[in-house]
Amino acid sequence: SINKLKVQDYQQVPVAVREDASVYDAITTMFLEDVGTLFVVDENSCLTGVLSRKDLLRASLGQQHLNQIPVHIIMTRMPNITICKPDDLLIEVAKLLIDRQIDGVPVVKEEQNGLKVIGRITKTNITKAFVELILED
Ligand code: ADP
Repeated sequence: SINKLKVQDYQQVPVAVREDASVYDAITTMFLEDVGTLFVVDENSCLTGVLSRKDLLRASLGQQHLNQIPVHIIMTRMPNITICKPDDLLIEVAKLLIDRQIDGVPVVKEEQNGLKVIGRITKTNITKAFVELILED
């Protein structure tokens, strides 16, 4: 049943950039990796921020030197990041996406230095889970 599905069974590989990466690099990464949300991490691979498509579009408007603007200037930053854990229920993440009006959340694991990013859950994963369950029986 849909209310028993866990994050760990549906999470995808996360795509991350470093805080000092430029807006230009982030846009390139978003296209090459074919994702709509990028996570921003520090030197310990710990979560510091999130970049959406619109964050990058907004930063690009009227800006010529996108290779000189670091993403940490424009990202949504910790502690204001909505996260989830592998053991969480997918339905709870689905509610978070609706309540906070976001497309995805990082799956994290607590470590000494912070929150390590180990996966991602997006509207696409959740739609996939929904369709699989409906077609199952
Ligand atoms: P878009 O802005 O491209 O429509 P989203 O709806 O996912 O994409 O993002 C809306 C805003 O919320 C953006 O400013 C983004 O940085 C922020 N955001 C996206 N995901 C998260 C998250 N997991 N936690 C906190 N903020 C987020």
